Amino acid sequence: MGGLVAFPTETVYGLGCDALNPDAAAKVFEAKQRPRFDPLIVHITDRGQLGNVVSALPATARQLIDQFWPGPLTLVLPKQPTIPDLVTAGLDTVAVRMPNHPVAQALIRAAGTPIAAPSANPFGYVSPTTAQHVADGLGSAIDVILDGGPCSVGVESTIVSLVGLQAELLRPGSITLEQLSTVIGPLSRSSAAGDQPTAPGQLARHYATQTPVTILTSIKARPTVTKNERAGLLIFSEASATDKHFAAIEVLSTTGDHREAARHLFAALRRLDAQGLDRIYVEPCQEEGLGMAIMDRLRRCAAS
Ligand code: AMP
Ligand code: MG
Repeated sequence: MGGLVAFPTETVYGLGCDALNPDAAAKVFEAKQRPRFDPLIVHITDRGQLGNVVSALPATARQLIDQFWPGPLTLVLPKQPTIPDLVTAGLDTVAVRMPNHPVAQALIRAAGTPIAAPSANPFGYVSPTTAQHVADGLGSAIDVILDGGPCSVGVESTIVSLVGLQAELLRPGSITLEQLSTVIGPLSRSSAAGDQPTAPGQLARHYATQTPVTILTSIKARPTVTKNERAGLLIFSEASATDKHFAAIEVLSTTGDHREAARHLFAALRRLDAQGLDRIYVEPCQEEGLGMAIMDRLRRCAAS
């Protein structure tokens, strides 16, 4: 105990430690170069563990848990004092989720303790969706990487805060706003990125490539690329003949399927980022359902 283990979940790979051990949590922040104001998510495998993590469970939490756990939904609730301040960045709330991945579940069960984990990447960079991504970014800083193959969802969990009077969507993910409101009624959305010190996954610039990213104004819009610019293109449908002048093209889904696009998003961004391009141009997608999470990540990636 006290070490760091990278592990697969259905969303992205996590960098885990014993959630009750502040020294282990400190190593997570160090390995990621993560600022200490950015709290971790606590992962559990059965509801019996909830009582050690949260101090209150409102009816809305129970309804969402019944419907979406195990799965890519994180709930922010009042914390138990047993959760170290470092894990929650000093907040009196804790983010908790039950992942739906056999390796993550086996790890938490074997550890016999909740596991605190952020995404297993250097702070601010594109999240990892394969074991190789983890090794590329953090290899030397961690003790073990469990390889569970590519993540099936590909974007981070949906985060909902249930501490205020009204449920609030802090981070869009693959459990959509529509799905959530069907169960608990309307949610508020946290305001624009960047001005939310208590929800730092909301930082304006995050999930960022080294290469500058520009989001195109509309689907099918294409930039004028000058002769001496090496540009990459990230799109949601088959490339057309007129896209030939791009040095590299990544198609997230040939049919515009948001699930497939989310699954491929971070790996595609990483491949483009590895090519020393001058700029990556990104086609926007419809901002509904899972498209909301995809555009959220792309906007933060493009923010300078
Ligand atoms: P990561 O798994 O790397 O996306 O990081 C976890 C993210 O969960 C943080 O960046 C926050 O956005 C969010 N989070 C964790 N704990 C809390 C909390 N107590 N209140 C609000 N957001 C939280
Ligand atoms: Mg992260």
